[in-house]
Amino acid sequence: MGAPAYVQKRSPFQKAVDRYERRQAQAKATVKKTRARMELRSRLREQVYARDKGRCRATGKPLMLHAASPYLVGHAHHIVWLGRGGQDVLENLVLIDPQIHELIHARVVNASKRIDVRGDGNGTVYFVEVNLETGKQGHEWASECPQ
Ligand SMILES: [Zn+2]
Repeated sequence: MGAPAYVQKRSPFQKAVDRYERRQAQAKATVKKTRARMELRSRLREQVYARDKGRCRATGKPLMLHAASPYLVGHAHHIVWLGRGGQDVLENLVLIDPQIHELIHARVVNASKRIDVRGDGNGTVYFVEVNLETGKQGHEWASECPQ
């Protein structure tokens, strides 16, 4: 069944223009969403930094919100990873030393261990070292939310 006679057929040129405008609108919406998420994350990171009193919850090392050296900048780590259904909420975040963060995400080449994190950022967070060769758990410790 074709279009009724009173519906004007779009020319191939008009179709291309419409398609272009539709894609432009989608791209704009994506940029807007991404920017909003980045702003939320930036705000959350500041809140995590303040709550954790600027110290790594795993090691106690003092960290900066902004610094020239990436080794000094505190990371906000999602206790339940975003890729595993974790949420962008304060209780799911902890301030972490960037080097510890690499171990948590097992991104260190030739590392002998990774660090698992669980718990509640607003309460007690538990850390456990896991030997990457044997899978056995090693050193385990807890970190209370600083008052
Ligand atoms: Zn992380």
